[in-house]
Amino acid sequence: MTKLGLCIWGVRTSWHTEDDGEFFCPDCGGDRSYHRRTGTRRLTVLNVPLLNRGTAGSVIECAACHRQYGSQALLCPTTTRFSAMLRDAVHTIALAVLTAGGSTGRPAREAAVGAVRSAGFSDCTEDQLLGLLAAIVADEGRYTASQELGHHSFADCVDGCGSWLSIELHEALEPLADHLAPQGRERVLLQGAHIALADGPYLPAEREVLEAVGRCLSLHTDDIDRLLAAAAATAS
Ligand SMILES: [Zn+2]
Repeated sequence: MTKLGLCIWGVRTSWHTEDDGEFFCPDCGGDRSYHRRTGTRRLTVLNVPLLNRGTAGSVIECAACHRQYGSQALLCPTTTRFSAMLRDAVHTIALAVLTAGGSTGRPAREAAVGAVRSAGFSDCTEDQLLGLLAAIVADEGRYTASQELGHHSFADCVDGCGSWLSIELHEALEPLADHLAPQGRERVLLQGAHIALADGPYLPAEREVLEAVGRCLSLHTDDIDRLLAAAAATAS
């Protein structure tokens, strides 16, 4: 009976679910469903809610382990989304390197198909890649013009403006760079380097595309140079 006095007043939080979806639960270490829940605090007297004491904010709750997180938990991509990002990145790099290399060499095309397949597009064929390349080149009068002018304007084309490659490289690589450890980013760059090296040393345009890839992956210039040199040394 003496404890009863402590229970007369209290604050109870009632939660209701606003929406749900899939996220990467750090505690489970995998993709799980989540509920976004918003809480309302109420002052209770003898367990009867009386006064609204304001919102308790919204939380992301894992449907499996029920652990609650702040909404920043949704910024981390799910494993499924992350694999798709990685796959798209390798695909875009393969196209960019082939475009820079003129896509004439069979070994480079085979290396590109191999890289794209192992990144997750398991049914990618050489014909599909070449079809995409032809579409890019046809679409991009600017690119062909820059190739005729020499490699300096190719770099401008990749880095500076609205070319297909520039947009695609930035879109495919920059989000990935935020979520990939440095070793992972280096590995992605090296996949591009192997495609370029499959038919001999880097062409100036290939080298510049790879440097642009490295920059989109937020790698330092020194590291990009070191990695590209090391890949070339192993290949020759
Ligand atoms: Zn969980």
